[in-house]
Amino acid sequence: MTAPGNPVIGVLALQGDVREHLTALAAADAAARPVRRPEELAGVDGLVIPGGESTTMSKLAHLFGMMEPLRERVRSGMPVYGTCAGLIMLADKILDPRSGQETIGGIDMIVRRNAFGRQNESFEAAVEVAGVEGGPVEGVFIRAPWVESVGARTEVLAEYNGHVVAVRQGSALATSFHPELTGDHRMHGLFADMVRDAR
Ligand code: GLN
Repeated sequence: MTAPGNPVIGVLALQGDVREHLTALAAADAAARPVRRPEELAGVDGLVIPGGESTTMSKLAHLFGMMEPLRERVRSGMPVYGTCAGLIMLADKILDPRSGQETIGGIDMIVRRNAFGRQNESFEAAVEVAGVEGGPVEGVFIRAPWVESVGARTEVLAEYNGHVVAVRQGSALATSFHPELTGDHRMHGLFADMVRDAR
């Protein structure tokens, strides 16, 4: 139902909550499709990296021959949006990686996995995000990471309880929380606009 001329946005479909992102992207007027292989990656204008489990995603990216193609496209400026495990995948550095865990990188930041702690593994909170109008977004946090520190080129878009939970560096966007699990598609709208601007 997307009109011609709408940006084609892929969702990395190795592992994680792919379907929810496809739905949210379609609601934000993007032509959304799953991406598993390098040929599919080549056909999209932008890419979402979903929530899930970053160690598994890292392994599967290698197994599917996707790690280098992903790094290459992110380096060359393809707009990319990572949620939760996807945020971890976009970090230049993980504070506490599992052995062998690698990231795509692209955002100059250090992240801490599962940072919000055991008693708070899963919660919802209203988060005010710079650049998103109409009030705070409903942040769903599930064993969520936070951003421990950012480099000079990284813009902080949101904090929760004093911890950075949304960032942007150029055409790369990342949130600790999962907007795809709510009916609020403003984060996907923001990303779709970034993809339109980059085309
Ligand atoms: N804790 C997970 C990880 O380290 C992320 C959880 C999520 O994506 N909801 O990858």
